[in-house]
Amino acid sequence: MVGKILAGWRYDISGLAPEMRGDYELHFAGCEHCSKRQKLHRIIDISLIVLASASAAVFLLAFAVIRHFGPRHAFWLEVGALAGFALSALIWLIVAVATPAPMAVVDVAMLGARHVHDRLPAEIREKLPEEIRVKLTGS
Ligand SMILES: [Zn+2]
Repeated sequence: MVGKILAGWRYDISGLAPEMRGDYELHFAGCEHCSKRQKLHRIIDISLIVLASASAAVFLLAFAVIRHFGPRHAFWLEVGALAGFALSALIWLIVAVATPAPMAVVDVAMLGARHVHDRLPAEIREKLPEEIRVKLTGS
């Protein structure tokens, strides 16, 4: 039952209010099938974002190269490069809005920051502003 609901959401509960998540988090903790699926879907979301970013960057680079060398038919090549860039940006936007990829990226970044924070010497950690420390460690 819970598993079916989760499948309908593509195993994303980031849009739920924290007090509503309890049952689902419990299910993820106890159900290997669903937690595996959740990881898979987040990997797909992030891969799509990364691909769209890379593709946008390539089209932009192509545009810059065409500008620089000014080959024949440069105008149409430029139009093609810009159209490719626009399409990649659109895909990026759709993925960012329709999937929890941005939240997943933030989560990964937070984990990384927490990791760095835990490795900092105590005297430097003390000097960090209170709000940053609270955000990183949750206490
Ligand atoms: Zn399940």
